[in-house]
Amino acid sequence: GSANDSLQPYWMPFTANRLFKSKPRMFVAAEGMHYVTDDGRRILDAMAGLWCVNAGHNPPRIVRAIQEQAARLDFVSSFQMGHPLAFQLAERIAELAPAGLDRVFFTNSGSEAVDTALKIARAYHKVRGDANRIKLIGRAKAYHGMGFGGLSVAGIPRHRRDFGPLLGDVDHLPHTHDLTHNAFSRGQPAWGAHLADELEAIVQIHDASTIAAVIVEPVTGSGGVLPPPVGYLERLRELCTRYGILLIFDEVISGFGRLGAPFGSTALGVTPDLITCAKGMTNGAVPMGGVIASSAVYDAFMAAPEAAVELMHGYTYSGHPLACAAGLAAIDTYEQEGLFARGPQISATWEAAVHQLKGAPHVRDIRNIGVLAAIELTPREGAPGARAAEAVEHCFAAGVLVRVAGDNLVLSPPLTISPDQMTQVVETIDAALRTVA
Ligand code: PMP
Repeated sequence: GSANDSLQPYWMPFTANRLFKSKPRMFVAAEGMHYVTDDGRRILDAMAGLWCVNAGHNPPRIVRAIQEQAARLDFVSSFQMGHPLAFQLAERIAELAPAGLDRVFFTNSGSEAVDTALKIARAYHKVRGDANRIKLIGRAKAYHGMGFGGLSVAGIPRHRRDFGPLLGDVDHLPHTHDLTHNAFSRGQPAWGAHLADELEAIVQIHDASTIAAVIVEPVTGSGGVLPPPVGYLERLRELCTRYGILLIFDEVISGFGRLGAPFGSTALGVTPDLITCAKGMTNGAVPMGGVIASSAVYDAFMAAPEAAVELMHGYTYSGHPLACAAGLAAIDTYEQEGLFARGPQISATWEAAVHQLKGAPHVRDIRNIGVLAAIELTPREGAPGARAAEAVEHCFAAGVLVRVAGDNLVLSPPLTISPDQMTQVVETIDAALRTVA
């Protein structure tokens, strides 16, 4: 006899989340910037679904590509078999990725992409005869999906709490947020370099020759949209190169346009050895993820003698024809609608819009980069997160979908959002903040 009985036997993710006792919001359709609910309301989607619908919902080109592919070729194994779209998509992604990253391994989700990248990193060192390099370094406040690998390197304690023991030989860098938490600013260059030097400290304790890889989100997403302090990623890159450690950027959110360029790496000008991606890869239309590897990493496997380590890894649905069709159509859509090219301009309009909330009640900080933003609220005494959760409910009642992350209202609209729609989002949040206690 619980209130959820009507929903059985669907075991929904995050069912125990005490902040949301109500019936889930039910959507029956979507188009462009809007969802349609089961009671016929149009909701402005300021989250791009879940950071993924970068070109807006149901773009005709993607819908058509999926329909046609479904009728032509449903499934092919990617183990010693293939189909042309997988090769074409890999080529298009390699063209968009930073120079030198030109091998694409397909997965079905961001979590699988992260596990794949961690496995590639360990096997890469082993194949080069460096079998001691097994340690993985993540970062506090990071989200890397729900697989055991991703959970192990991630840094959101309540995601990890009930599932141990996780992978051993993992260490975490501190997060940059505490030092950059200077209300309404992005932090000073000196902090970035100083914070990255924490890696130097880990190297001194454990010895560089034991460390396989460092994984970071270029911009921490689920942890509350925390842009990197100036110089931080550059310094991480420098240290990883110096010590022979692979640098992995988890671009599941930042990939495919969200930061105003094809990848976060291209937007921020720092090139890792491996990139994980998913979400915007198919505009959210079909599940798909991937790892983009440097030719140096790929070549190490190819150069290894017969008997050496192989990358014994892959999924039934790696490079699924429907996902590849959706991925190719998504890239066509992003390019033909100029969504990558519009990046800097849309980022500037977005920044101006979200900073209008500066004087609204409870607002403690506003962070934005690309078409991402967090409005951080002062928590209510003794009830962390409650005020933000209530504000999100008010926004939904007023027809705008935003997300809660701790004490933050998180925003990640499709890149097709218009200036008027930005104003609608901001005015709706402003009204919600005037309503909550
Ligand atoms: N990495 C990052 C940075 C993410 O934001 C997410 C999903 N929000 C994931 C990995 C996991 O992706 P998925 O949910 O597709 O497994």
